[in-house]
Amino acid sequence: DNDNFSPEERDYEKALRPLSFEDFTGQHKIVENLKIFVQAAVKRGEPLDHVLLHGPPGLGKTTLSNIIANEMGAEIKITSGPVLEKPSDLAGLLTNLSEGDVLFIDEIHRLNPVVEEYLYSAMEDYRIDIMLDSGPNARTIQISLEPFTLIGATTRSGLLTAPLRARFGINARLEYYDAKLLSSIVKRSCNIMEAPVEDSAAYEIARRSRGTPRIANNLLRRTRDFAEIKGNGTITMEIAQMALDALNVDHDGLDEMDNRILSTIIEKFNGGPVGLNTIATACGEEAETIEEVYEPFLIKEGYLKRTARGRQATLEAFRHLGIAPPQDQSQ
Ligand code: ADP
Repeated sequence: DNDNFSPEERDYEKALRPLSFEDFTGQHKIVENLKIFVQAAVKRGEPLDHVLLHGPPGLGKTTLSNIIANEMGAEIKITSGPVLEKPSDLAGLLTNLSEGDVLFIDEIHRLNPVVEEYLYSAMEDYRIDIMLDSGPNARTIQISLEPFTLIGATTRSGLLTAPLRARFGINARLEYYDAKLLSSIVKRSCNIMEAPVEDSAAYEIARRSRGTPRIANNLLRRTRDFAEIKGNGTITMEIAQMALDALNVDHDGLDEMDNRILSTIIEKFNGGPVGLNTIATACGEEAETIEEVYEPFLIKEGYLKRTARGRQATLEAFRHLGIAPPQDQSQ
């Protein structure tokens, strides 16, 4: 999900990325468990069991995978589902792994089914069977691999096939961060960037970041620009509010697309229920993005409901937009 980031944004993310479990804020239960599994694997001198991380973009799946590799003292190779087009793409990566290395596959739900089949024996028995030639000369050769750890990340665990899912020994679902945790992430980032910040300003950015560290860091970056140009460099509450308003993040922390989705459902479809694809077309956004990025947050915050007949705006959504709900709304 990092595809549309500029090189500067990538460098910025890298600079702020925690490198150890100690440095990773939040997701307490997951981190505590992973620590134990990592320690046990190190103690036994075995690779860590395969790990599946799921949750919306920007919550720390890539970060955690890098940390796991660090803590295992292993190398990490990073790829993503859509990049692995042919079995040979996967075979190339797998045969280059050293013992204990981590292979990270982002968007693993988007693996080509043919490639996915090859992954099964690789995960289970550390071997792949490669088909040579075709027709009457067809034969397979078996290549054994060094024991490795696969870490799969997905925004849509529901789209994973059962056989693939069954091959992960460790399965963790990352949750949205609360404002307090995000506020400490913002302060940590300010520290790294040597940007002075008021507590109240850090909290304001945190509160309006859709529960997502990546968004908090991105908003912080823009807020720092405002502090340098419109202020004296210190990120104050006033500067934070000015920046967030300018970036069209509203007072409840919803961004432009969140609001467009809600107002579309309410104004064009009478509050719903309305199908996802219809909403997507009306909003000019891809259905997949709405489902993976926007909807989970809107549902969690109580603005949207999924019903059998489609998406429905809640009373909270009407209130948010200052629109009177229809009288027969039975919620
Ligand atoms: P994902 O892989 O889930 O999309 P990333 O791991 O790329 O998310 O995280 C995006 C950015 O957010 C990282 O570069 C990192 O700076 C920041 N981040 C994510 N989780 C945390 C955390 N728990 N503590 C501090 N920063 C975090």
